[in-house]
Amino acid sequence: METKNRFMYINGEWTESSGREVFATKNPATGEVLANVPRGTEEDIDAAVKVARQTFESEAWQSFPPIDRGRILYKIAEELRKDAEEIALMETMDTGKPLSQARNDVEASALYFEYYAGMADKIFGETIPVQPGILDYTLREPIGVTAHIIPWNYPLQIISRSTAAAIATGNTVVAKPAEDTPLTALKLAEIIDKSALPKGVFNLVTGYGSEAGAALSNHPDIDHITFTGSVQTGSAVMMGAAKNVKPVTLELGGKSPNIVFEDCDQVEAAEFVVRSIIQNAGQTCSAGSRLLIQESIKEEFLQKVVDKMKGITIGQGVNDPGLGPILNEKQFTRIQEFMEVAERDGAAFLTGGKREQGEGLENGFFFQPTVLDNLDPKSYVAQEEIFGPVVCAFSFDTEEEAIELANGTDYGLVTGVWTKDSARAHRVASKIRAGQVFINNYGAGGGVQMPFGGYKKSGFGREKGLEALRNYTILKNVALKY
Ligand code: NAP
Ligand code: MG
Repeated sequence: METKNRFMYINGEWTESSGREVFATKNPATGEVLANVPRGTEEDIDAAVKVARQTFESEAWQSFPPIDRGRILYKIAEELRKDAEEIALMETMDTGKPLSQARNDVEASALYFEYYAGMADKIFGETIPVQPGILDYTLREPIGVTAHIIPWNYPLQIISRSTAAAIATGNTVVAKPAEDTPLTALKLAEIIDKSALPKGVFNLVTGYGSEAGAALSNHPDIDHITFTGSVQTGSAVMMGAAKNVKPVTLELGGKSPNIVFEDCDQVEAAEFVVRSIIQNAGQTCSAGSRLLIQESIKEEFLQKVVDKMKGITIGQGVNDPGLGPILNEKQFTRIQEFMEVAERDGAAFLTGGKREQGEGLENGFFFQPTVLDNLDPKSYVAQEEIFGPVVCAFSFDTEEEAIELANGTDYGLVTGVWTKDSARAHRVASKIRAGQVFINNYGAGGGVQMPFGGYKKSGFGREKGLEALRNYTILKNVALKY
């Protein structure tokens, strides 16, 4: 890929930053600069929000037939698929992830546009019986100008999942991609630019979180914010929104457990347990970062997991290994700090724990697949999101203990339950405090149709599925006396 200067996308125009500054986005596998991207300012955010507001209120967009919104979104899905290979390569270069995982991301993004395309003309209110002589009905209206702050781990997927739902429901959009991974969001803007979507509906401002991101989340003239990222930044975004009394949807990661009972299919469970922590080098909000194993099979099962972790290939994403590099030095250092604390706390490193060195790995931050045992479940490393290929193992005797351990962190995003006893599986699922529970699988193939979101500090509000439409619509009740 040639290094070039890119522009951001406001009101259907490609523009530079009002501050004229740019920053580089790099390939995490090699350190090579891929492109220079505008450093969006508060002024740029303000311009984008103004455009989104004017477009939202315009007669043209207010009267735009819902079915035509759907047709355009459907076309965007087709265009994503047409350029899938090019876009997957771009995502791999910008994020570091293995190519086949980037291909899955592009397909998932196309699925979001397709799924919400079909919903565009199927959003409506209800009639409510009140009393004789009153006709009461509800209107489900678009909420207005929607802000989308996107993380770096699944850049194209996450911008697609929220903006497709927002546009389907008749809103306008201002999105900010993460500074480390802006390229596929810009590619999406190119596809949208060539589509029949009226200009000003989709706006993209690149920049730093503390500048463009903060300006967007604190802007008084947005109507909703969708944020995915850390608890700390999510909380700051929510405070900005609170000042302006704006609703937020927060997706803030987790410390998700796989609960492995003695009666499970161990071979299959081990396969999924490893995949759930290795995917995207563990830099996944729903990563299976805790492993709870019934004591009677602990040694046997853990050995299977360790063997698999040792067999994972490590390399540059373009060569499609099992594991690519960590995003950047900051994230890498964070993982190393966790390892130091784990060591001090007496963890047993069953495999991994260090930087991976070797030919072709010199210029990226590669981290070994790591299995930690013997940690206190209440300890820092056992409780906090590491965001690396590191799984912490624990054991339990009874079902009650398993549930207590599973629920024993501040997070509650996803839980995997592995057992052949379906009564037990449903009993456990009902007691788990997490937004998604998978029984004898983990992720169900990604599932754009399944509502996704957190309990506790994993956030609130639901993305994906029909539930997400609630984020982007507002309900009005109308009562007529006749
Ligand atoms: P982060 O700060 O939460 O970043 C997420 C998004 O928020 C990015 O677009 C970021 O922009 C933006 N942002 C940063 N500061 C902001 C502010 N003050 N106001 C508004 N937006 C702001 O996460 P990070 O620092 O990249 O990663 C740290 C940790 O967060 C990770 O180790 C992981 O534990 C967690 N994380 C979770 C997820 C998830 O999927 N739930 C995703 C990413 C990170 P810039 O990138 O341009 O700063
Ligand atoms: Mg990058």
